[in-house]
Amino acid sequence: MTGQIPRLSKVNLFTLLSLWMELFPAVEAQRQKSQEKEEGKHGPLGDNEMARVSTDKKQVKKTGLVVVKNMKIVGLHCSSEDLHAGKIALIKHGSRLKNCDLYFSRKPCSACLKMIVNGSAFERQVEALPEEMVSWLEPSGLQQVFQAAGVNRISYWPADPEISLLSGASGSEDAKLDAKAVERLKSNSRAHVCVLLQPLVCFMVQFVEETSHKCDFIQKISKTLPDANVDFYSECRQERVKEYEMLFLVSNEELHKQILMTIGLENLCENPYFSNLRQNMKDLILLLATVASSVPNFKHYGFYSGNTEQINEIHNQSLPQEVARHCMVQARLLAYRTEDHKTGVGAVIWAEGKSRNCDGTGAMYFIGCGYNAFPAGSEYADFPNMDDKQKDREIRKFRYIIHAEQNALTFRCQEIKPEEKSMIFVTKCPCDECVPLIKGAGIKQIYAGDVDVGKKKADISYMRFGELEGVSKFTWQLNPSGTCVLEQNEPESRESKYLQGLY
Ligand SMILES: [Zn+2]
Ligand SMILES: [Zn+2]
Repeated sequence: MTGQIPRLSKVNLFTLLSLWMELFPAVEAQRQKSQEKEEGKHGPLGDNEMARVSTDKKQVKKTGLVVVKNMKIVGLHCSSEDLHAGKIALIKHGSRLKNCDLYFSRKPCSACLKMIVNGSAFERQVEALPEEMVSWLEPSGLQQVFQAAGVNRISYWPADPEISLLSGASGSEDAKLDAKAVERLKSNSRAHVCVLLQPLVCFMVQFVEETSHKCDFIQKISKTLPDANVDFYSECRQERVKEYEMLFLVSNEELHKQILMTIGLENLCENPYFSNLRQNMKDLILLLATVASSVPNFKHYGFYSGNTEQINEIHNQSLPQEVARHCMVQARLLAYRTEDHKTGVGAVIWAEGKSRNCDGTGAMYFIGCGYNAFPAGSEYADFPNMDDKQKDREIRKFRYIIHAEQNALTFRCQEIKPEEKSMIFVTKCPCDECVPLIKGAGIKQIYAGDVDVGKKKADISYMRFGELEGVSKFTWQLNPSGTCVLEQNEPESRESKYLQGLY
């Protein structure tokens, strides 16, 4: 390969992120766990009551959602116990959903879709205005009103829909009725409701596999545990592949066809379309599993601060490890949109609001994201692309590439509020150019790999991260307080209980 690396398309990225958001660690489960700890052993609901709640909700599948405006991500959501992802997006974005593209991990139910397509009613109102009222609008202004009405496009992953068609006899009649209602809403809406799956470019999966192996997180584990099972990464990946195929692919092909028929995709049931569709879905699932295992739930590895005094202050407390890992995988996915031919870097910024809110992400909300790339709008050949192996410093890339953190800050869709806890997740150590930017922007916590900390090269150096004060740093490492101290929000393992007993 002559410096060219395979790159994820934007549609691929949005699709993968929607699936990934469906897997956002359930806030309810986290809260319940901590409540159970406080109250002793039992949760607020008795066992019977718990069983009832879970059968009611079984039919509604948790759904991930990516909101995109002008091809930029402006929202990452997932269903909560109380609300579907689509409704959450409406509450959070309101009329700002105009002209947005929505990427769902499941076809949304009729209750969500009717609210989302409701924007189109605005268009009809304008059309119905008496002539004299319309005439004061400039022709271009009128056009703007038309364009501003409603969501632009609703894309969904073509497997089991939000109201599950796989959930067994009792609910299936309702699920079919809902699917019919969805079709009706779809055919009457201005928004384009569709399946938008793009095949991955050649060698994409292999490339992601290789680079995942080399990423900071896997490297760190294999460096510190040289005698550990070298294959832990492949093992972890195999498990993820199985798990995600169960979740995102209908394993029985006939059943999958039936679902496609019911949700109005009968044209995809014929071959070669059907087999192409399945292959495409499998490839994307494989890619997601590969990236997810690059920040693995492995032994006592996690994002920890080296400074133990810092951890004790509530404001500086790290996120639950599973949430931190989830956000880092978002950043890892973003890195595969890089324009740098050698090193892809991704960054994502989240903040924690004051209230827990209705979102499946709890109090956390999305602020912005980015990857390393040449200045927006530049053409492919505008800038040099050489790295530090090139002797002539003038033709190296370093003065032209915008770093992932810089893009995430520049193209953020929300303000960073000084009174709130905000955090940036970066797949590599922030460089000396970025560290003061992150601090200056008021970000309170950095989650990153630290393989490059303290390194200095001719064009890029990583000296300032180690000295940075006033921002909490959580880097990927073995739990420094020893394996016997429980991470606050981690489930208790038998091993840790045993070790605690020793104290
Ligand atoms: Zn819904
Ligand atoms: Zn940088």
